Amino acid sequence: MNTPTPAVTPASAPVRTPPKPASDATRVRQQALRARLPLEDRQAFEDAHRGLIETAKDLQVMGANGRTVWTLRGFEFLEKEESPDSVHPGLWRQARLNMFSGLFEVCERMYQIRGMDLANMTIIEGDTGLIIIDPLTYVERAQAAMDLYFKHRPRRPVVAVIYTHSHGDHFGGVRGVIDEADVLAGKVQVIAPAGFMEEAISENLIAGPAMSRRALYQFGNLLPRGERGTVDAGLGKSWAAGFMSLIAPTRLITAPVESLVIDGIKTDFILTPGTEAPAEMMMFHPQFKVLNTAEVVTQCMHNLLPMRGAQVRDPLAWSRYINETLHRHGDRADILIAQHHWPMWGGERVRAMLRKHRDLYKFLHDQTLRLINRGYVGSEIAEMIQMPDSLAQDWSTHAFYGHLAHNVRAIYQRYLGYYEGNPAQLEALPPAAAARKTIEYMGGADAVLARARADFDRGEYRWVAQVGSQLVFADPANRAARELAADALEQLGYQSESATARNALLQGAAELRDGVPRMPGSGGTGFPRDLVRALPAAMFFDWLGIQVDGLRAVSRHIVLNWRLTGTTGEGGAEDWTLNLENGALTHHPGHSAAADASLTLARRVLDDIALGKTGLAEALEAGQVQVQGELARVHELLGLMDRPGGMFPMVEPRPGT
Ligand SMILES: [Zn+2]
Repeated sequence: MNTPTPAVTPASAPVRTPPKPASDATRVRQQALRARLPLEDRQAFEDAHRGLIETAKDLQVMGANGRTVWTLRGFEFLEKEESPDSVHPGLWRQARLNMFSGLFEVCERMYQIRGMDLANMTIIEGDTGLIIIDPLTYVERAQAAMDLYFKHRPRRPVVAVIYTHSHGDHFGGVRGVIDEADVLAGKVQVIAPAGFMEEAISENLIAGPAMSRRALYQFGNLLPRGERGTVDAGLGKSWAAGFMSLIAPTRLITAPVESLVIDGIKTDFILTPGTEAPAEMMMFHPQFKVLNTAEVVTQCMHNLLPMRGAQVRDPLAWSRYINETLHRHGDRADILIAQHHWPMWGGERVRAMLRKHRDLYKFLHDQTLRLINRGYVGSEIAEMIQMPDSLAQDWSTHAFYGHLAHNVRAIYQRYLGYYEGNPAQLEALPPAAAARKTIEYMGGADAVLARARADFDRGEYRWVAQVGSQLVFADPANRAARELAADALEQLGYQSESATARNALLQGAAELRDGVPRMPGSGGTGFPRDLVRALPAAMFFDWLGIQVDGLRAVSRHIVLNWRLTGTTGEGGAEDWTLNLENGALTHHPGHSAAADASLTLARRVLDDIALGKTGLAEALEAGQVQVQGELARVHELLGLMDRPGGMFPMVEPRPGT
């Protein structure tokens, strides 16, 4: 999974319109699905339960501020076997499987913490200490996971941490399992795939605020837990919040396959860049015959493009790496584990799983391209692609986290971009203006509403959601339109097998009914301190650049010299010049003789300013920043910075558009 920074938490329990029951059309659809889906296949329940040492189902992990940062409470409704009409039967099954939580033994010397985070923590008992693979998302949860482990196993030091990839749910809890001083003293190794740091800090930086807002839709954090609310996140239970940390790796894996012996445990690292994350690796432990597929092969179809937004992933590489692993390690693997979901035991099953996931991404890729090359566009291909029965009858290929139609469109986007080749799109009106014209041409809102209601009664929710959205964008004050559009999204959500699509549809319905939730600001960037600290200066200045209001800045030319002290640069300092010209902020190393002002400050002070922990004025007053030249020009630059939009509207137009 990929982890945007949750910049916001609910201010208070929002006023909520209660969700509605499943309609007759939805009920009929779910009944048909129950008859068609392989619900009699119970193998995954055995796998998810196998090796359980102690459950965490009643655990409540608290943060430093007394806030709950993890609990499965509220999901008790999932104890029922039969799915309600308001949940897709396949998703209900997955949501129940993701309820297995606690400490599990995979095999002798190998344990997993599951269901205490979106991701898993794997613990290997080395000759002298512990090897931790992926320390969960947040420090508090990682500490709770270690406490649970030590309750049952001997207390030994952690000698190595392995990050399988650059997503926050696989590294953010690291300070809960090791102390950075021990890393610096050489007592603990931190191993990661090549490119880890760059990707860990960059993927959620530039578009971070927009991703955070959109992630609330993807993960359904604001939805109530329940049969008519959020039931799962596909990869695991939920997201929530906590303290995210990062300790830089001490050892990078750079060869395609590299073997290391760590505390007596031989591990073959298998790099898989460009698959589920830009920097990722799987691993094989020969002495345990365990293949750890990280997040490349899990118990669902993954997304090629998360709904929160990201760069599109490469399905061809994804399939190729699985295939190579099947051929290189498949015959020797008896157990498959991943950093989400439950393991599977038995060599034949492992190989079958690898073949299916290899073919899942290849089929999607090839068939989408075949149709692209016959001239079909993403929305058409999404209707045409059907997974072969040999895959569809295997639960692990179902799109509980990914979403088939969205993945098809992502492949289109990866190869051809948003533009479908019809030049009418090139100068199309933006959403609100287009909606006003459309509704006017269709005879006005009342006429459209009357017909849309009739379509709703016929169960045509896709179209009603679409035309309902046009009504709302034409006039967000049209209460009846909002209600109808919400009802349509809600039924679509109930029908969705993809947890992320369900969450998005239900969050959309909630915001149509009750408006955009009021949330407190993050009090800064919403970017965790450890990640800001790890930003190279060039990336930091790029990040400043996207905040400049270019149109207001267009007539200014400002040149500032920066000396950042306490860094790893020569003499413990780095020199940079920032240049604002033509409305664009650029940077280059070294100082300019033509600078308007020169600033000297410790890098950590710059971090505090960026994090909103202090302002430039306070830092100047505290003597933390020395300025030579025209201080006014520094303030002038800061005055041209725009703040991100926070809780911007998603299912209705921005005021004034
Ligand atoms: Zn993940």
